[in-house]
Amino acid sequence: MRGHYQMLINGEHADAADGDTLATIDPATGLELARVPRGGREDVDRAVRAANAESVRWSALPGRERARLLNRLADALMSAQDELAATETRDNGKPLAQSRNDVKVAAQYFAYYAGLADKLEGRHIPLEGGAFAFTEYKPYGVVGIVVPWNAPINQAARSAAPALAAGNTVVIKPAEDTPLSAIRLAEIATEIGFPAGVLNVVTGYGREAGQFLVEHEMVRMISFTGSVETGRHIGRVAADRVVPVTLELGGKSANIVFADADLAEVAKTIGGTIVKNAGQVCSAATRVLVQREAVDELLAATSEQLAGLTSGPGIEDPALGPLVSRRQMERVLDYVRIGDEEGAVRVAGGQRLQTDATRNGFFVAPTIFRDVRPEMTISQEEIFGPVVAVIAFDTEDDAVRIANGTRYGLTAGVVTKDIARAFRVASRMEAGQVFINRWHAGGIETPFGGYKHSGIGREKGADAIHHYSQLRTTIVAP
Ligand code: NAP
Ligand code: MG
Repeated sequence: MRGHYQMLINGEHADAADGDTLATIDPATGLELARVPRGGREDVDRAVRAANAESVRWSALPGRERARLLNRLADALMSAQDELAATETRDNGKPLAQSRNDVKVAAQYFAYYAGLADKLEGRHIPLEGGAFAFTEYKPYGVVGIVVPWNAPINQAARSAAPALAAGNTVVIKPAEDTPLSAIRLAEIATEIGFPAGVLNVVTGYGREAGQFLVEHEMVRMISFTGSVETGRHIGRVAADRVVPVTLELGGKSANIVFADADLAEVAKTIGGTIVKNAGQVCSAATRVLVQREAVDELLAATSEQLAGLTSGPGIEDPALGPLVSRRQMERVLDYVRIGDEEGAVRVAGGQRLQTDATRNGFFVAPTIFRDVRPEMTISQEEIFGPVVAVIAFDTEDDAVRIANGTRYGLTAGVVTKDIARAFRVASRMEAGQVFINRWHAGGIETPFGGYKHSGIGREKGADAIHHYSQLRTTIVAP
């Protein structure tokens, strides 16, 4: 690890034009980890201009040439997996095994979209009298990518890979809390031969670097992952500028568990929800809707799951790491207090975890509430921490109504041995991705994105590449 990182603009390392920096913190210790440039208007402008200058050349390359570089990047990320994972873990806090997986998935995105780079084929449309038309998928030019802190390299790759494969160039603005892995991504891309200007990274604050990026007149498409509030704001900027925007926002997803389910397996899913990135996962099953007669048995199985759970600095690869920041820890503890006040029954956790290993870090104990009612705050608002709300239901209709009864609609799940019921309930979910029986069973191949306030557009899978392209129709008269 270095003490000072630089941005990557036009294939070169760069400090902010005014020399300003900001600190990124190690959430396991609360101490400064490294400094990065505090990018401003001038830095964003340089990066976007570099991307714009290169965009025609990049898009004119044969698809297989872009694919070759994207595949090389995928391989290079895997060769650097240990180092990248350690960097991500120090910056974000998540346990090392989870960072290793995030790096692997980032590499998979580049390889997957490399496979599509030479398969962007349009249609031939026959017309009257020998005339015809053909369609082509054309890139937008410069895509501005703004990502959050919970899966930094993974989310940067998820947007950059299809954008680049489709022939766009990109400027990435990582979150201020976790800027390091995006910088490393751009460094590696440069090292393995990406043309200067194709993949740029500008670090800094959202209200500065992020804002300037989405406002820049040469940014022709915006891909945003983050909170509903910021997404709404960016959507307004996009509307004013009349540029397309992808918004991957939050979630408050429900897993509907019928009494015939394998409750030991469901308990493992709940344990996974809590430990995976300490619950800071937009698609996590944070509401567990359980048929009333199964609640006690499921909770007993869950407390067994949580019993032997290790926690500590992510770099020691425990099950549970810290939250990303003091602010996020306080936000989570605040929701716990609200849950108590509104009358939910807290059966586990809820306090800051302060052992010898975690004393100064931002750790929260695995937290479970039962007897949560659908209208409670902890059932409606995204907490983004190791907190699960268990809600009892009686009938299938009740379960569907409760599951759909939030402003979000990112993911949903149903667990039952009754296959007809599984499909029936799944088809009624107002969510962009629905899991039957196993939560998070998808991968990079499965389109992902929100209904309702969870967002606009889809990332992942083959469809996403069309999201990063615009259709052109050419009509030929005989
Ligand atoms: P956030 O505050 O919305 O920040 C996301 C990104 O936007 C950060 O890089 C941030 O910069 C930047 N930003 C802030 N204000 C901006 C502005 N005015 N213009 C341009 N960019 C701006 O979200 P967060 O708190 O970091 O992330 C947590 C949220 O993300 C949760 O709600 C979670 O559900 C959601 N999320 C969604 C998905 C998904 O795929 N659907 C995935 C992961 C997370 P700073 O870091 O400097 O503030
Ligand atoms: Mg950090």
